[in-house]
Amino acid sequence: FGREVFDAGVTVFSVGDAGESAYVIESGCVEVLVGHQPNQQRVAVLAQGAMFGEVALLDRQARTATVRALIPTTLIRIDRTHVEELLGRADPVIQYLLRLLLERFRNKTQGDAAASAAQIPALAEPSPPTDLHAAAVRTLSLAHDLSDAIDRGQLDLYYQPIVRLVDGSLAGFEALVRWRHPQLGVVRPDEFIPLAEKTGLVHRIGQWVLKRATTDWPLLRQRCAATSQGAPFISVNLSAPELCNPGIVESIRDCIASSHIAASELRIELTETVIISSVELVSSAIAQLRTMGVGIALDDFGTGYAGLDYLQTLPFTAIKIDRAFVAQMHDSERSFQIIKSALELSRLLGIATVAEGIEDAKTGAMLASMGCNYGQGYHYARPLPLQDLLGAGTP
Ligand code: C2E
Ligand code: CA
Ligand code: CA
Ligand code: CA
Repeated sequence: FGREVFDAGVTVFSVGDAGESAYVIESGCVEVLVGHQPNQQRVAVLAQGAMFGEVALLDRQARTATVRALIPTTLIRIDRTHVEELLGRADPVIQYLLRLLLERFRNKTQGDAAASAAQIPALAEPSPPTDLHAAAVRTLSLAHDLSDAIDRGQLDLYYQPIVRLVDGSLAGFEALVRWRHPQLGVVRPDEFIPLAEKTGLVHRIGQWVLKRATTDWPLLRQRCAATSQGAPFISVNLSAPELCNPGIVESIRDCIASSHIAASELRIELTETVIISSVELVSSAIAQLRTMGVGIALDDFGTGYAGLDYLQTLPFTAIKIDRAFVAQMHDSERSFQIIKSALELSRLLGIATVAEGIEDAKTGAMLASMGCNYGQGYHYARPLPLQDLLGAGTP
């Protein structure tokens, strides 16, 4: 953002210029002119508060009009890079709809001019950028299909082993949801959980996951090694809207009771974004779960900004070091130092550490020597369906 001052009669931009920014009039007024000199025509006068120049900014085409200050005028400039950054973070459907609208708008204004010149109607077909179009169509159809996924039995729960790094023994599992889409194949949770959060369906999915995980746990528990270094556990991910749902603590209690497992065997994984979204609601849910004996892990540690704050104020029982740091630990001094301080910090706080995304023996050995308690990653096992885990190792 920037502020620019124009004297009366000074041009802000001209027809044909590249559109690099949009403007909001802070004070003063401008005229909007179409056509080229000497046949310029004034089509509008804009005053304080009005925005202009946004179309060229968004569709990356040249300016279709000239804008000139009528009196001394102050403008606030909004740069393309800023807008594109915001847009890039928006839902693909919104991005696509916006591009489509802009294209229609362009075609209409250009078509109108051409039509009035040639006396023929304008028949412009929009041709959207194909990547954006494909992404938008996929998002729309996934959002639509997801509503039936549970009832049609398309959800599945995979379990990824978590091992004790000192001896490689099996300590527990993380439950990871999968969606077997009839046309698209397996859809990863990174793609459909955010959609489910927007539509509210995440609550039903979360209930399904909790129920399945607690029901399956007595079977999986038998696979884990009982050692002196802590009882086996099953980890379940919860997203922000789920944890803020007033009934969540009750339904976790019900799941524990009906499957006859100990509360201390269940661990809930929360990312920082979950916590930031509503600190008060989340803290109260966490406190109640801790009172029941349920473990709480801070997931993706190191990827957010506020991890340290939360470690101090919320009663976490474990932190999970994000796989981005683990993958980089041999090559990046920074990643190595982040892992080292995470391990020191958790020692001070007396809580357990889990390193994610361990893909080779060297990394596992190094983390073990640094004092990390648990490890998880393709080096040990990929997330697997229940049947594969129960079948493995049976005589
Ligand atoms: P997360 O909690 O960080 O889960 C770990 C992700 O890393 C999983 O991806 C897992 O398959 C992957 N992973 C494990 N080991 C390795 C490795 O060695 N290398 C690499 N490159 N990746 C590894 P997945 O299953 O696709 O899950 C993605 C995210 O979706 C999870 O990230 C979690 O935030 C979310 N999620 C998964 N299941 C659920 C669920 O039931 N409920 C909610 N709310 N979110 C879920
Ligand atoms: Ca997790
Ligand atoms: Ca994680
Ligand atoms: Ca993650």
